[in-house]
Amino acid sequence: MGVPTLGCTCAVCTSAVSPDGDPRNRRTRPSVLVSWDTHNVVIDTGPDFHAQAIREGIRRVDAVLYTHGHADHVLGMDDLRPLSFHPPGDLPLYADDPTATTIERIFDYTFRTQDRYPTSARVTLHRLASTPGAEVPLFGARFQRVPVTHGSQTITGYRFGSAAYLTDLSDIPAESLPLLTGLDVLILDALRREPHPTHSTLDNSIKLVERLNPRRAFFTHMSHDIDHAATDAILPPHIRLAYDGLQLTFDITPQTSSLEPKSSP
Ligand SMILES: [Zn+2]
Ligand SMILES: [Zn+2]
Ligand SMILES: [Zn+2]
Repeated sequence: MGVPTLGCTCAVCTSAVSPDGDPRNRRTRPSVLVSWDTHNVVIDTGPDFHAQAIREGIRRVDAVLYTHGHADHVLGMDDLRPLSFHPPGDLPLYADDPTATTIERIFDYTFRTQDRYPTSARVTLHRLASTPGAEVPLFGARFQRVPVTHGSQTITGYRFGSAAYLTDLSDIPAESLPLLTGLDVLILDALRREPHPTHSTLDNSIKLVERLNPRRAFFTHMSHDIDHAATDAILPPHIRLAYDGLQLTFDITPQTSSLEPKSSP
């Protein structure tokens, strides 16, 4: 819902916007930019994508990967328009099959073959294979699909180099665990303290970090139930709450996962 949450006057929502509050409590909808060499790959374009791109000075995007079709992850797709008008070719989008279908339905004027809106985003939507570890090779890096459970749905997390981005999850299926070994950076959902039907709690996410044993973990997708400073203070030192504008450095060089089929030279 973003923080401040509309209509709410709780301490965290108030702190998010007051001059003497904590700016880390101001949470736009979740998205990450992965930058290396001259390449910019975005994961999810939520309803705040336009403001986020301006805030971070993003002048070009080379590819977009989607996690799932919920509004907080896809509604900013249309804001890619001015970034998609420059050659060469269409801006590639990648999504699993249900997510691609949702994006095509929401933005039908962009994807219809007849009577297409003339200045629609120049994008091509690629469907990811549903297999765990299915790869999108991009500019020398490799993004692997990591299936995660989000309530009754299985959605897509991504492993890239020594980092993984797992937003919106209630659990991680056993088949995905081999894709999450040897991580330097793990970013994962921790919505709030109280149980939720489709999201992980703070305690559950701490347990997931203990199990996956990354060098560093960052929680994301927190609701207004979580105060940044008070929560950070009780977390182990290798787990921190992420915040808008946080920048992390890690190795994007492709890792060999145990699920990867042996390739011939
Ligand atoms: Zn609130
Ligand atoms: Zn969701
Ligand atoms: Zn979400």
